[in-house]
Amino acid sequence: MEEHLRILVIDDSMTVSRYLKHLLSRMGHEVILAGDGNTGLQRWQTERFDLILLDLMLPDLSGLDVLQRIRATDQETCVVMVTGHGDVATAIEAVRQGADNYVEKSQITLGSGLDEFLHVIYRAMEIREAQVSRLRLEQEIRQKNQELEATVRELQRTQQALVEERNKLQQILFSLSELVLVVDREGRVILINPLAAEDLGVAQDAAIDRPLRDLGAHPDVVQAVQWVLSTGEVARLEVPSLRQTNGAETGQLFSALLNPVYTHNGEPLGVAVVLRDVTRERELEQMKADFYSMITHDLRSPATAITGFVELLAEEAVGPLNDAQKEIVAILRRSIDKQLRLINDFLDYSAIDAGFLKLEKQETDVRNVVEEALREIQPLADQKRHTVSAKLPDGPFLAYVDGERLNQVVVNLLTNAVKYTPDGGHIEVRLTGDDGTVRIEVSDIGIGISEQQLPLLFSKYKRLPGETGRKIQGTGLGLLIVKEIVTAHGGEITVESTPGQGSTFRVVLPRYGS
Ligand code: ADP
Repeated sequence: MEEHLRILVIDDSMTVSRYLKHLLSRMGHEVILAGDGNTGLQRWQTERFDLILLDLMLPDLSGLDVLQRIRATDQETCVVMVTGHGDVATAIEAVRQGADNYVEKSQITLGSGLDEFLHVIYRAMEIREAQVSRLRLEQEIRQKNQELEATVRELQRTQQALVEERNKLQQILFSLSELVLVVDREGRVILINPLAAEDLGVAQDAAIDRPLRDLGAHPDVVQAVQWVLSTGEVARLEVPSLRQTNGAETGQLFSALLNPVYTHNGEPLGVAVVLRDVTRERELEQMKADFYSMITHDLRSPATAITGFVELLAEEAVGPLNDAQKEIVAILRRSIDKQLRLINDFLDYSAIDAGFLKLEKQETDVRNVVEEALREIQPLADQKRHTVSAKLPDGPFLAYVDGERLNQVVVNLLTNAVKYTPDGGHIEVRLTGDDGTVRIEVSDIGIGISEQQLPLLFSKYKRLPGETGRKIQGTGLGLLIVKEIVTAHGGEITVESTPGQGSTFRVVLPRYGS
């Protein structure tokens, strides 16, 4: 024992205590004496000792009692029992209860036993030290174990939360009526819902990690996935099925939407593919379209037939008419004209509203279209004693447009010009353009349109307020239809107007739009 130790000797024998103090102090240690158990315990409670030499037989308490009290809270201090002769059994019991060793008093007092005594003390201190390290280690291990258990519990909670999240996501995917799958950057399936798996004819689990192509997906979808992966753009397409159909008619139609998917830090992850069954929607649309064309036909044909017969009557092709009859036929003619116009406007608008405005574009001479429109409105212009002038190119002016629809546009603008200009006015139509555009302008010197009313011109059923306007018949749909036709051509319509002075409507179309 090289270092300086603090040693407490609890012994009632003055001889032994003094001898120990003398002996151990000489070796450089500090020795404190306590003559009974309680005094010893008091010192132990208030001070720190490296070693306690504890007599088994004390006047107040037994050495074993003192030992038990010490060990109840102190595992660090080394305790060596000092026993009388023949007390070995108790000493062994003391070691069992936490003493680190024992010495017999005779060993201490006998000069020859000194080495043995010191050896016992060293051993005891070593044992205690080892014991303390073991306890510390155990303590550390226990603590680490607790930390580990806490981490495991935390992990379990996180895992549970993840599983719940995944289940939720899966439930959502399961309950969707769309076909949904997600592929990674290599085009391998990482997520698929039952409907998509069913359409591909594979089990959900079996589809995971396999390339979409190998699962027999429709080539258009596979190609679109590649496109989205390489461009990062959204793709839309229509396919008869998610799986390859080999051209066989399935009767079904799916609208597919492919979206690039990114991780939360913006890394590309793959593509989400969602297919919606639009078969029924398309059937309904077709039914609606059929219904419109049936109604169109049924409404237009009787009116057209009546117009024809009224024409025949008016031309006296079936016999001469007296003045009264002529008057009636003229009224009939105006009424049927008005009705036919209303029917046409309404049907056109309904078709546009339902999204059925289909242009049939072809190479068309726009000059011809304008001249034809002028011929059509001439009788109306004559009635109101308007002069009509036209500034047209000398020769044909070809453009890729729907001639019939464009005629409708010009007739409509000219009719409005005639209608909204007081009798004896002047109307002018101009056709100009260049390689890329067709420009048609219709000007009048009529009642004009106020600034507040200009923005309302092309909106639904917005007949503009005002006395003059109200007296003039119309549905308020004409300009709406005109605008739709112009827009469908990729063109634009604008108006300039000064109330009381007149208006100019300008249509600009791409000459060779797609
Ligand atoms: P409608 O003539 O059948 O009422 P339109 O859609 O063709 O319907 O025109 C909408 C409204 O715009 C008309 O009611 C009229 O008030 C106004 N309008 C159209 N063209 C002219 C014009 N050339 N001059 C003055 N007002 C016009």
